[in-house]
Order: sequence, then structure tokens, then C-alpha cells
Amino acid sequence: MLIVGLTGGIGSGKSTVSRMFVAHGIPVIDADVISHNLTGPGGAALDRIRAIFGDEVITDEGALNRAVVRERVFERPELRRKLEGILHPLVRREMLRKVSATKGAYCILAVPLLIESNMTDLVDRILVVDADVSARIQRIKGRSGLDETTIRRIMSAQIDDATRRARADDIIRNDDDLEQLQTEVAALHRRYLELART
Ligand code: ADP
Repeated sequence: MLIVGLTGGIGSGKSTVSRMFVAHGIPVIDADVISHNLTGPGGAALDRIRAIFGDEVITDEGALNRAVVRERVFERPELRRKLEGILHPLVRREMLRKVSATKGAYCILAVPLLIESNMTDLVDRILVVDADVSARIQRIKGRSGLDETTIRRIMSAQIDDATRRARADDIIRNDDDLEQLQTEVAALHRRYLELART
């Protein structure tokens, strides 16, 4: 089965594009969902994360407090590496398990940090969603309660757009409206079906 890795900076439109592929009947395996499950109540990564960051990063419900962890790793990059050292191998293993249980012509692995976390070996092609930074900031503000400083800090922890684009096999520009995005996804869907046949 052809495996397409979908990535892009925060707010570029990955989740929106994912939903559009799902609407075409294509399975999307989402690293964020896996990561949330690993760090939700009873999640497989929680004990090891607690051992490094302490009880303060665990909510009363027994889940990882993502906002607190985000602050901690911004202040101390070595903690980010430790956190990723716990999470990334677990995410990778779970994605492989899900891929092997998936049927169809092709599937999508949606991984925000596909390139940063060296997971590109899991995929046959890299699809990058790209949009202007100012549009991305406006869209994220509309989607979540994050302020501009936090958004820019998250962006600065991701690779820059030019480096990401340079790794892409396919690029979706998401500067226009959702209808245009729909058209681009439909064209890529046809292309991937064709590639999967050859
Ligand atoms: P990502 O998953 O890359 O962080 P999202 O797909 O969640 O980005 O998009 C961020 C926000 O912008 C969402 O609220 C989404 O509905 C909106 N959005 C995405 N693409 C467009 C577009 N072309 N026009 C208008 N709003 C968009």
C-alpha cells in the first residue's frame, strides 16, 4: 500500500486536508490522536513522563497537562528531547501497527513533526501543506485560544517552511478558500490512486 506522509506547520491546514482525504474514503492515521491517547488518562507514556517532569504535569483526571508541559519544554530544550525520546518511538510503533491493519489503495499518515522527528522513513511520499504565516496565525487564533506569542513560539520549534518544502514530493498551497483546497485535494487523490496502481 502506498503511504503518504502529510505534514505542515501549525495552522497550515493539515487537519482540514486530512478530513478532505477521509471524505474521499482514504484512511488517515493521525500522530496527534495517537499522542493524545498515549498521554490521556491511563496512557502508556504517562508514567515515564511523570518520572521526568513530576506530578505537576498530570491533571486531576490523570492526563498530561499539555499547556504546562509546553511551557517547561520551551524553557528547557533538553526536556523537550527527553519528552520526544519517550513519545516518538511509541507513536511510531502505533502508527506502524495501524498501517498494517489498514486496507485500501493508499493511506495517509498525518504527522505534524514528520520531518523534525525523522519519521520520513515510514512513508513513500511527503505531502506538505503550506500557507503564509500571517494567514496561519489568524486561522489558529480563530480555532483556539492560543495567543500570537504562543503561536510564534510553537512555530519557532518547528522547521522553517523552506526546509519543509524542500523535502516535499507534493505541496498544497492553502492561501485561498476551502473550495480551492478541496479541488487541490481531489487532484492529489486521483494522482495517489494512479500511483498506487503502478
Ligand atoms: P493544522 O491542522 O495544520 O494546524 P487546521 O486544519 O486546523 O490546521 O486549520 C487551522 C484553522 O484554519 C482551522 O480552524 C481551519 O478550519 C481553518 N482553515 C484551514 N484552511 C482554511 C482555508 N483555506 N480558508 C479558511 N479557513 C481555513
